[in-house]
Amino acid sequence: MSRLNFTLEQESTGSQARAARFQTLHGEVQTPLFMPVGTQATVKGQTIHTLKATGARILLANTYHLLLRPGPEVFKKIGGIHRFMNWDGPVLTDSGGFQIFSLPASRRMNEDGARFQSYVDGDVYLLSPETSIGMQKAIGSDIMMVLDQCIPSTAPYAQAEAAMELTHRWARRSLDARGDSPQALFGIVQGACHRDLRKKSAEFLRELPFDGLAIGGLAVGETQAERSEFTGVVTEYLPKNLPRYLMGVGTPIDILEAVHRGVDMFDCIIPSQLAQRGTVFTSRGKLHLRRSVYKFSEEPLDPACDCQACREHSRAYLHHLVKADELLGWHLLSIHNLAFYHRLMREMRASILRDEFLPFYEQKRTELVRSDEGNPSVLPKKAKVFQFPRLGDYQIHQGPGGFSSIRQISSGEVMHSVNPPEEEANKLYVDQSLLASRLKKTDTPADELVIWDVGLGAASNAMAVLRCFEQSLAANGSDGLRPLRLISFERDLDPLRLAAGKAAYFPHLRHAAPNEILANGHWTHPSGVMRWELVHGDFLELFRGAKPPELIFYDPFSFKTDSILWTAETFARIFAACAPQPAELYTYSAATAARVALLSAGFFVGEGVGTGPKATTTIAFTTAAGSAAHPAGARLLGDEWLARWRRSSSKVPTSVSAEGRAEFEQQIEQHPQFAASARRALAPWGAISDLRSQI
Ligand SMILES: [Zn+2]
Repeated sequence: MSRLNFTLEQESTGSQARAARFQTLHGEVQTPLFMPVGTQATVKGQTIHTLKATGARILLANTYHLLLRPGPEVFKKIGGIHRFMNWDGPVLTDSGGFQIFSLPASRRMNEDGARFQSYVDGDVYLLSPETSIGMQKAIGSDIMMVLDQCIPSTAPYAQAEAAMELTHRWARRSLDARGDSPQALFGIVQGACHRDLRKKSAEFLRELPFDGLAIGGLAVGETQAERSEFTGVVTEYLPKNLPRYLMGVGTPIDILEAVHRGVDMFDCIIPSQLAQRGTVFTSRGKLHLRRSVYKFSEEPLDPACDCQACREHSRAYLHHLVKADELLGWHLLSIHNLAFYHRLMREMRASILRDEFLPFYEQKRTELVRSDEGNPSVLPKKAKVFQFPRLGDYQIHQGPGGFSSIRQISSGEVMHSVNPPEEEANKLYVDQSLLASRLKKTDTPADELVIWDVGLGAASNAMAVLRCFEQSLAANGSDGLRPLRLISFERDLDPLRLAAGKAAYFPHLRHAAPNEILANGHWTHPSGVMRWELVHGDFLELFRGAKPPELIFYDPFSFKTDSILWTAETFARIFAACAPQPAELYTYSAATAARVALLSAGFFVGEGVGTGPKATTTIAFTTAAGSAAHPAGARLLGDEWLARWRRSSSKVPTSVSAEGRAEFEQQIEQHPQFAASARRALAPWGAISDLRSQI
């Protein structure tokens, strides 16, 4: 007499699909049903509450894994798996056979059973029909499975027949071992992809007092068509009055096909395994959440789903979680996939009970194999786009002007976007700082000229300095030059590595120095007069240790990408590092926020030359004298700028607190540069024209 009190409720017209219900020790279940896999007495990443919310009513647990850890003693002491994991619904346990036969190297098998070594503690175990049932009794599952010999579904006839015969002998031993336990026990039909063996196996097992019968040895190597065919072959010979379980199957379409062929029960790891990879099943096809088409999507995952993930989150958020490999992403997508499976089972059951399964099946079998048609991954035919070389977060970029530069992929920011990098480097930094004339020796012994190159990037500015030095050397000889020390600061060397490896795009790098810098961190000109050093790391942490500069070429990423390098606090620290020696800072930015930050740090701030679409850039001096001696000194920001600043929306940096605003504004108003602006406008240009004549 069956322990499950199985009731067949409805058989379909034109299909083998059926709806049934049966009683377990932990309540009734309705078929067709899907069992989430709780290998280690947990469905990965789910609580019992989230499982129930997805619609789960019965779980599968793996005898093999639970035998090795925590072991039968724990279940005996605590009183079974229900109490252990606090799950009050039914549990089905497999026999462990599938896992043992998946590890052929570490087991020895004979009529008795399979001996294998534990992956947990190295002990040798015997898995026999008797020990498997013993363990499943300790676990206290509602439905136990017999130990069977699993072989590939593609196994040849003789091997498949021998495995089937052994499985039948083990089936009898398993029934004996079960004895008068109230736990249900299922037999397993074997026979690989051989019709007569499958028939023979089903006919043999149906004569034994099992509470249900399973189809084993599928989903292990056969095609989908073979799987469907042999599922149908077996169910034809199974009794109607017992539940039928197709082990380890499968995808939603596999399950639909098997229900159509008369199967009632399923288990599979796919819902949670695909969720881990960012893939979900939806009413509108399969979605791969890693795809960037979902980056800005505020839609739910599936508008037809009411799971927690769909109710509470957007595709954009779930896409982000998946991209960031966050556990919550896996958790939520698993919830969704499990909810999808359980809903599919409920819909199938409802259609069977209405005797409308056949039209349901016809509609679903096209629906379940769709990919995301709203966002097709194969776009209409399009010319293949040439991809520029990339490295890490950087890619070579070619602007409309035809010159190459480096683009940061994550921020989209292009270094020197509007004119050729070496042209901008010369105009903004080398020429404007009068580098050639500065290099000329006027005193003996001569002071070393120190330049900070902040933001090495693809070495455009550094190489412009180097070229200027080489020209000066050719014109004046090594005795006529001041020693030059160029200190480049860079956190990420990928832009230079990328550019140096593709010198065809970057003619300015055709020189031995960049590769030496990458290899050794320093390079010295054969004359010994110029030394180039790399400080690799965070500028803000490392500039204190560098020799104070006379010139700073300030070329980091923009405020938008790297805002901390544009704050008043950072400029104040740079100012302090330069003092008391006069220093000049050159930068491409003309932003009011950058200028006001420099002013508040104590710099005297003037307009630099324009470059590309920028009408002006910025030069900052640590001393009033330094600014007065410079051609740009005449263009120090004056009353006109001050008036514009007073009206500006970025008048005070956001880092200044509400209480500090008034003080900050006063500090700018009272900056000595503005007090002197009227006087300087009338001053003769003497010092400036002296300098100019030397260029
Ligand atoms: Zn959902």
